[in-house]
Amino acid sequence: MKIISVLPSGPFNKSFDYLVPNFVKIKIGQIVIIPFGTREILGIVIGFHGSELPITKLKKIDEILNFPLIPISYIKFMNFFSNWNYVDKGSIIKLFLSPFDKKSFRNLETKLAKKQKNCSDKKNKLNIIRIKKLNSFQAKSSQQIINSLKNQRPKCYLLEGVPGSGKTETYFEAVDYCLKNRKQVLILLPEIGLTSEWEMRFIERFGFKPSVWHSGIKKSEKKNIWLKAISKVELVLVGARSSLFIPFQNLGLIVVDEEHDNSFKQDSGIRYHARDMAIYLASKIKIPIVLSSATPSIESIFNSRKKKFKSLILPNRATGARLPEVKIIDMKENAPTRGNWLSECVINELKKRFENKQQSMLFLNRRGYSPLTLCKQCGYKVGCDNCDTWLVEHKKSNIFLCHHCGFKKKAFRYCENCNSNSLVSCAPGIEKINEEIKTLFPSAVIENFSSDTMKNLKDFNIILKKIVAGDVDFIIGTQLLAKGYNFPKLNFVGIVDGDLGLHGGDLRASEKCFQLLMQVSGRAGRHLKKERGLVYIQTYNPKNTVLKTIVKMNVSNFYDQELDYRESSNMPPFSRLVSIILSSKIEKKLDEFAFKLLKTVPNYKDVEILGPAPAPLSFLRGRYRRRFLIKSKKNIDLNNVIKNWLNICKTPKNIRLNVDVDPYNFL
Ligand code: ADP
Ligand code: ZN
Ligand code: ZN
Repeated sequence: MKIISVLPSGPFNKSFDYLVPNFVKIKIGQIVIIPFGTREILGIVIGFHGSELPITKLKKIDEILNFPLIPISYIKFMNFFSNWNYVDKGSIIKLFLSPFDKKSFRNLETKLAKKQKNCSDKKNKLNIIRIKKLNSFQAKSSQQIINSLKNQRPKCYLLEGVPGSGKTETYFEAVDYCLKNRKQVLILLPEIGLTSEWEMRFIERFGFKPSVWHSGIKKSEKKNIWLKAISKVELVLVGARSSLFIPFQNLGLIVVDEEHDNSFKQDSGIRYHARDMAIYLASKIKIPIVLSSATPSIESIFNSRKKKFKSLILPNRATGARLPEVKIIDMKENAPTRGNWLSECVINELKKRFENKQQSMLFLNRRGYSPLTLCKQCGYKVGCDNCDTWLVEHKKSNIFLCHHCGFKKKAFRYCENCNSNSLVSCAPGIEKINEEIKTLFPSAVIENFSSDTMKNLKDFNIILKKIVAGDVDFIIGTQLLAKGYNFPKLNFVGIVDGDLGLHGGDLRASEKCFQLLMQVSGRAGRHLKKERGLVYIQTYNPKNTVLKTIVKMNVSNFYDQELDYRESSNMPPFSRLVSIILSSKIEKKLDEFAFKLLKTVPNYKDVEILGPAPAPLSFLRGRYRRRFLIKSKKNIDLNNVIKNWLNICKTPKNIRLNVDVDPYNFL
């Protein structure tokens, strides 16, 4: 008998030793079934260590599944992922094996042999391929990526260029090279960007459908993709962040499109940043990775300026169209009429365009009708029962809704507190703007573009098609509009509240606001030949520096300022942050434990621990919440410091402790 170490799938953070007869061939990365207590569970072989336990205490392995091995680079990735994000290794294994369980694995073994012989996606060619002749910037950039593929010198590329500069076409060239060399490709997109639009463009370029992976994909399809990936079958997969947990056997290239998008950061359950993890994964597999964005994250700009990433820049729009003209509307001088939110300048522009049958868009990053409803008589505010927040009125569905926990109440017109008829809406959401437009243009076709109206991919694609075809006069939308869609008929964009998001004390407030406004503005006039698109930004702070950089469409100017600010305040990317969030239904127990942690706070040079403080959302989903914020220099092994600290006091059963590395959400 020989001894093997197996990492079991599930909430375990260490490996367990098992026995295998000497004559049985077994390798690291093998998927196995092991006896565990009274159960049988899945696991992955990670080593051949001698055991501390006497051999008589060890159990025999149940079954070795006849699958290709999980590549060593992925096992290293799991280890790194676990350490970096404070996640149990077994939970990551569970993710990796996730489309399957023991039973379906066993059933599959037999089918697999056939699958391997099966051909690639490429054979099902659908269309004639149309390849655009790349402009010189595109050609030069794609050549650099291809060279790195050829020479097997993996690098991280930051592909930067204004919206519509042809970044997609550029990385498509590298995808094409991989396909010709029988390599697998993984393209990460923000979940909601995975629409038919991207797929259509891919089909146009390559003549076949890419495989798609996100939370809405059927399990059977996921199994299919997983098997192709591990069996070395040629595969281009476009997926949301969870596609990082597919064991590709022959990956040649990773692309992270819209790399700045915050939805790559998962901040509930297993917390991680998909972009950052993808960069690590690429380095372990030794393949190039391309991060693409018109408005890269500060972190990526920082790394490219430090020469850690190789910068590739596309300076112009690929269609030849010029960038839009951006004007600031000072709302102090252009106040809207009472109860309305659009200034006369914006309304006049909308009128002109509507008469000329042109499409216009209004952007306001607020779902629903109004974020706060207040009683003028008694001061009562309509709040959530489970959270320390206000309920958002949604007129269309006739409810007050909590955007944090989903709690809802049927809408009411009389104050719950004093019964008077004095409720007023305090600020607009897109439903209110929709109402305003409807009053101004009763015959117009208006579509709201938000997660409320586009609950699933089907609705989403229907509305998107209508917009692209020019069958919509006014698009009114939230941040969903900023996700890189191509609206060919759109020439005018009005930003209802340019100040929204600039405040709020969030570390990334300016960055997010800049990215949003830049991306939204970038939708205007993408396909105009002579004229330029037009953007109006309504604001009460016309001198704000973020808005000024948008007017000039000057990206690097913004990054200079923001990096200066981050450096002077010693914030990321110049330092590291980790949050610890404690929550409990029992406030007293929570404070006791927070105090206990405080008493054992480690004392390291260059590590600063703030807290415990009530979280800004100090009550959420029926649980009280406290936060610690840990800040350190970059060269410190902060994870180790925190692990040692948290190991001192065991977290009581009625308290939940979450570690959020490089936090994006400070609520
Ligand atoms: P980005 O990804 O930078 O936003 P895209 O790759 O989506 O830009 O390209 C924007 C538009 O320009 C698309 O309609 C695309 O078909 C077109 N385009 C891209 N490259 C070229 C090119 N070399 N010649 C002509 N049109 C191009
Ligand atoms: Zn009242
Ligand atoms: Zn709530």
